[in-house]
Amino acid sequence: MSGQNTANRKSPVYRGRFAPSPTGPLHIGSMFTALAGFLQARSQNGLWLLRIDDLDAPRTFPGAADGILQTLDALGLQWDGAVAYQSKHLPLYREALDLLDSKGLLYPCTCSRKSLGEAQPVRQENSSAPETGPRPYPGFCALRKQNPDLPHALRVKARDTISFIDHLQGPLSYSLPDTTGDFILRRKDGIIAYHLATVIDDYHAQITETLRGIDLLDSTACQIHLKNLLGMPVGDYLHIPVLVDAQGVKYSKQTGATAVDSGNPAQLLLQLLALLKQNPPLELSDASAMEILRWGVAHWDIDQLRNIAAIRYP
Ligand code: GLU
Ligand code: ZN
Repeated sequence: MSGQNTANRKSPVYRGRFAPSPTGPLHIGSMFTALAGFLQARSQNGLWLLRIDDLDAPRTFPGAADGILQTLDALGLQWDGAVAYQSKHLPLYREALDLLDSKGLLYPCTCSRKSLGEAQPVRQENSSAPETGPRPYPGFCALRKQNPDLPHALRVKARDTISFIDHLQGPLSYSLPDTTGDFILRRKDGIIAYHLATVIDDYHAQITETLRGIDLLDSTACQIHLKNLLGMPVGDYLHIPVLVDAQGVKYSKQTGATAVDSGNPAQLLLQLLALLKQNPPLELSDASAMEILRWGVAHWDIDQLRNIAAIRYP
């Protein structure tokens, strides 16, 4: 930390993270988020941590985690400390579930996707619910007595309205009953759900700002709700635009986005800096990856991404 004239004032060190799911190789869209997070952390002399979100074993692709580390390494996106793997944190998630259960905030749910009719999204009048997406859970199992031997998911009561300020997207407010309803923390197959795992891991890694793609913006209300229930600090949130293809479709593993080519790291970094609207100067065209990253850190301006939901590539 610098701090020549703030020597007596302790400001917390920025701690950010990149948390890819190892469901395939890093594609251009995930690299865009990775570089933004790296620059956001390094430009504040902060830490940038790496976590592999490998809880969903059936969706995990063998070798993908190692490939992700190699790609980041090839580009010079050096993370701090040891890589965290969610699959090694199961006791932490269990502990949180026990705590929530002891407060009477959980209940078993035996509903099936089919019985909930999740296939047909609905638009709620006068609600903050998105135009499409699954309808909020109607709370069937909150009211009925369950046979504990039946396979069941665990849901958390979510009856609040959550307001927060996203550093790029501004003030937002979500009524949980209108958007998600009581949501799942542990799936019927026993797998810990994304919201719970993310909140627990961000807490244990002392993340000060969660930076990720705007496609995960709607997750934030659920995650803040969990933090509130668990008595954790909320921290800062920053959601950046997502990269979309010529058809306007977000790059993702589901839509077949291919591995980023890290054979020419300098060229890829310049391309990503341009996509991040940082206007890298022509002089950098002969620079090394290291020099380009140094320039990126020194000139990082997150405000260039304000009020943009998607960026087209190519
Ligand atoms: N693992 C999640 C994903 O790859 C990201 C989690 C997060 O950044 O909160 O979509
Ligand atoms: Zn149910």
